[in-house]
Amino acid sequence: MIQEARLTIDLKCLAHNYSLLRSMLKEETDLIAVVKANAYGADSSKIAHELSKLGTSCFAVAYAEEGAVLRKANIKEPILVFYPQMGQLEKLIEHNLEPALYSLEIIKAFISLLKKKKKTTYPVHIKCNTGLNRIGLSYEEFIYFLKEIDTSSLDIKSVYSHLGASENPKPCSFTQKQIDAFELIKATVIELSTKHPKFHLLNSSGIFNYPELQLDAVRTGIALYGFANRSEWDKQLKPIAKLSAPICQIHTLKKGESVGYNQGWEASKDSLIGVIPLGHADGIGRQYGNGIGKVSILGQSASIIGNVCMDMLMIDITSINCEIGTEVILFDQITTAADLADLSNTISYEVLTGLSPRIKRVYI
Ligand SMILES: *Cc1c(COP(=O)(O)O)cnc(C)c1O
Repeated sequence: MIQEARLTIDLKCLAHNYSLLRSMLKEETDLIAVVKANAYGADSSKIAHELSKLGTSCFAVAYAEEGAVLRKANIKEPILVFYPQMGQLEKLIEHNLEPALYSLEIIKAFISLLKKKKKTTYPVHIKCNTGLNRIGLSYEEFIYFLKEIDTSSLDIKSVYSHLGASENPKPCSFTQKQIDAFELIKATVIELSTKHPKFHLLNSSGIFNYPELQLDAVRTGIALYGFANRSEWDKQLKPIAKLSAPICQIHTLKKGESVGYNQGWEASKDSLIGVIPLGHADGIGRQYGNGIGKVSILGQSASIIGNVCMDMLMIDITSINCEIGTEVILFDQITTAADLADLSNTISYEVLTGLSPRIKRVYI
């Protein structure tokens, strides 16, 4: 019996995933723990503290505010910010966050801010684009940066890039092109610069698929939370999160009565309907309505019926012996967030990061 919707995070599973990943890495390779998007829904402050106890020495987030949240929670380790925006540069310095500089515009803006703040040296990372075409300096811009820009105030801790298809079967010609481009970047730094940055390229799937490319560090997010985008890798990991909620009301419907907005579902026979306090505002989107989404109750499967509402969804419990307060599982370690994602053509990342902060987080 439970009394409200909750995301239960199993910290033993987090520890398992961390140890497994660490054991796959060379001793000298750093593990940068990615805790952006509220640690993929699990609560970044709590997860960062746990990972810190497990030995993590560096964190990464997407935006400056996420780093500020970690600093306010007393996280002391270096924090890399992947996608700092022009309006967030002051905040980086204020909270001692390390930006990834990814364009000449942001490099120039950051250097002038350092000057204004009279900072003689500040840790930064340089992000290069090798084919994902999302964010990063092109090779030509990178050369310009090394040759023409006064980088004396930048303590360049690392130069990195990001693979666009790290989970795809090998050999993958697209990934090989990215790897070759990154090798050229490395060689160029050694040739043109007196600085000695670290180099990194791999995300979670990359750790499994390209062990030979661990380099000086890896940036792992989803694998810490139990997934790696291929079933044989997923099997070695343990999903940390279970999403469940109680049945908060039961209705007895006569044949022909309907359920939900716009009469989304109609009873083809006398039926029992359970109401669950989770809706699209919680991250269980409308795509799971009308029989697409399944939940598990006491080991039996039930369908989500009608349209998912903002705060509630309804399930058909006609053939299930349950009552108000019975726990209904949306995903757990057996039927996982990746399985739920599959039902609506998305990925575990979207399901996990879409979970609203109003769902209570519980840690075991
Ligand atoms: C989110 C992100 C990661 C982590 O990716 P996972 O697939 O979750 O391991 C790594 N690097 C960058 C640049 C990212 O934005």
